[in-house]
Formats: sequence, structure tokens, C-alpha cells
Amino acid sequence: MIDFASQVETRIRNRDQQLSAIFEVAKILATEQDLESMLSQFLSRLIATLEVADTGILLLYDESTELLAVSEAQGYDFATLSKIRIAPGEAMSGQAFQTGQVGLYPNPEAIAAVRENQSPESCELFRMATTSLGQPQSAICIPLVAGQVKVGALLLENRSKPGSFAADEVSFLSAVADIIALSIENVRLRKKLQDTRALEETNRLKAELISTLAHEMRTPLTSIKGYSTALLMDEATFDLETQQEFLRTIDEECGVLQDLIRDVLESSVIDAGLLRLEFQPARLPRLTQGVIDDMAHRSEKHRFLINFPEDFPILDIDPHRIEQVLRNLLDNAVKYSPQGGLIVVRGEVREGEVIVSVADQGVGIAPEHLNRLFEKFFRVEWVLGRHVVGSGLGLPIARTIVESHEGRIWAKSKLGQGSVFYFALPLEGPSQEIARW
Ligand code: ADP
Repeated sequence: MIDFASQVETRIRNRDQQLSAIFEVAKILATEQDLESMLSQFLSRLIATLEVADTGILLLYDESTELLAVSEAQGYDFATLSKIRIAPGEAMSGQAFQTGQVGLYPNPEAIAAVRENQSPESCELFRMATTSLGQPQSAICIPLVAGQVKVGALLLENRSKPGSFAADEVSFLSAVADIIALSIENVRLRKKLQDTRALEETNRLKAELISTLAHEMRTPLTSIKGYSTALLMDEATFDLETQQEFLRTIDEECGVLQDLIRDVLESSVIDAGLLRLEFQPARLPRLTQGVIDDMAHRSEKHRFLINFPEDFPILDIDPHRIEQVLRNLLDNAVKYSPQGGLIVVRGEVREGEVIVSVADQGVGIAPEHLNRLFEKFFRVEWVLGRHVVGSGLGLPIARTIVESHEGRIWAKSKLGQGSVFYFALPLEGPSQEIARW
């Protein structure tokens, strides 16, 4: 009677443990995380909630080597165990993996027998990883299978008494193993999907780059070809002024081509993760003045104004890269205000940062386009009632540079009333003495 009562009590306790193990496994599944930490939690919670299992190993099959490798271990020296590779059919995990059957090993003799075909190296590594633990008295090894896909094996051992794993555990652990295998396969499929999407996106961007380049190069090339052919014609004689004008147009169109190619090269450098910043103390007002002087030579229709406070701080930045941002914003200010007008570059010091703005009186930008300006290849077509050559890469490049300085970049505009582009740079860094320029 007492015996029966204690048997019932044990079974109820086992059920309780199994239920809480399922609950723990479900909790891990509910929190999205990477495969490694998910598996480590699966195994540690399983061992913690199941009295019968003292130690455990999770092995995953690697398709490239066609071997099983230890992915997680509880109670062993993981550094040593992680060097072990098991072939399908070898030892307990290889057997479970190959046959798809649960292996029950009720005593040390059964464990020793199944390990007979284990390679001497992995036997030795196993011995080294388990020296402090003593011999396992009983073990269970469950295959991890997700649908048709063999994923690996789960090995649990008991170190105190033979026969600890009973038939009761088999069905429960098989169910848990199914959940683990499905979760592993799920994470892998999601990763594959992400990789495929990333590859598709890269290919799409590459194709877009080539078609943008081919399309945008056509206009300046046609113009260069037309004017140079005209100049070379034997029968046509142009006066000196006309010749000068033709040559100036050719020169300008070459500049447009150069800008296009520069943007494309710059963008591929950024895509390849090769953007290197060289920080040094720099005087932004002086740097801005230099860019403006250069621009003023190139555009007669525009007037430029620079407005920085006298005590504008020296900033720790990459001056060449920030100059590139300014040049891009000023280029756009000129390009998209063909009637000319005033272009104002202003610098302000705010709490913890400086803000530089470039304002023009040009065509402006419609509200629906404003937040797409910094996307790669985004261009507002027919903005001036005609095609304006451009790569749609200038602003994305500027954004990458500013964000690499831990700054921000944004724009405000009203269609037909001009635009203001802003970028903010952090004021931190050692070089905050006052600049006199
Ligand atoms: P690109 O000028 O080569 O097209 P950008 O990335 O520099 O490429 O600019 C993207 C788009 O943003 C431009 O095509 C243009 O439509 C719009 N844009 C940029 N700057 C201005 C500006 N100052 N005024 C009006 N539109 C602008």
C-alpha cells in the first residue's frame, strides 16, 4: 500500500517536473533571440527542472563536415567538449542521429558498449571533459528531427543511479526534442530568408546603380559629343567667342560626369564598409568659407552668405568628409535653384551640439518627398520641368558621413519656396577651445 502510494507520488512529481519543463521551454520560445542563447537556455532549464538528468549535451549536425558537433553542454567542460566531432552512427549521439530512434542506456555497461565505436580522439576528449564528474550510470539520447530534416541529438545523463530514465521520460523528452528541433530549424530558415532578402536587395541596388549611371551619363555625353563634333567640323567656322562657349559647355558636362562617377565610387566604398574617418580638431567656419569661395567662382547667378558666431568651437571631426557634406549640400542648393538667389550657410551652437544649415531660394521639395531624400537613388524627377542629371547618391552619402560622426541630418522645405538642409554634430571631444577665424 505504502509502496503504491510512493509510486503514485513519484509519478505525480515527475509529471509536475515535466509540465514545468514544458512551461520553461515555451517561455524561451516566446522570447525572440539568437540560436546560441536559445539552445543554451533550453538545455539549462531542462536539466534544472528534470531531477533525473544531471548533465546534458546538445549536438548539431553540420552539413558541410557531415559531422555532429557539440553546440551546448551543461555540467561538462565545454571548451574541451566543443572540439569533439561525432560521425553519424558513432556512439550514443551518432546512433540517435542516424537511426532517428531514442536510445535508452540503463547502466554503465550499456553506455560503454555503445561507445565502443567512438573514435579514440573523441573518447579522450570526452574523458578530459568529464573527469571531475565520474561515470554516468544511465543515459538517454534523443534524435532532434524537424519534419524531414535531421538536426542533431540531445544526450542526457544521470550520474547517481542506473535505470533512471524510464519509458515515461521517452515520450515526454521526444516531445521536447521535437520542439527544440523545430525551433532550431525555424531560426535557420529565418536566417536563410534574411540572407536571401539581403542578397536580393544588394542585387537590386547594383542593377539600379548601373541603370542610373547609364541613364544619367547619356545627357552629358550627348552634349560633349555634339559640341566637340561641331568644333572639329572642317566646313564650320566658329568665331572665338562661340568656340569658347562650346568648350565651356564641354568642360561643365565633364564636371557633371566626374561628379556622377565620384558619387558612385564613394557609395561603393561606403557599401563595402571601407569608410574611414580621420578625426582631428577643425575650424568649421573656415572650412565652410573655403567651400563657398570655390562655389562662388562656379556660379555667377547665386550670392552666398556665411553666418557663424565668433565663438564657434573647434570640433573633433574628419574635416575632409565634413567638407564633402558641405560641398554636396551647396552643390544641390545651386543645382536646384536655377533662377539663382541667395544661399545662406549658418552655424549655431546648441546644447551639446552644433547645427549647420544650408538654405536656398530654389524649387523646394514637396512634403511627400521630404523624408525620402536620404534614401539611395531617390530623386525627384522633372523637378525643374526638365531632366536634371544626378545620381541620387549625394544625400545618402552625406547622411552616412554625418551619422558616422554621431550626428543627424534632415531637411525642411516648401515647394516653390526653397529648402533648408541641416546637419548636427556633437560638441563632445577634447578640442573645444574657441576658434578665431
Ligand atoms: P542628386 O542631386 O544627384 O539627384 P542627391 O542625393 O544629392 O542626388 O539629392 C536627391 C534628390 O533630392 C535630388 O534629386 C533632388 O530632387 C532633391 N534635392 C536635393 N537637394 C535639393 C535642394 N536644395 N532643393 C530641392 N531639391 C533638392
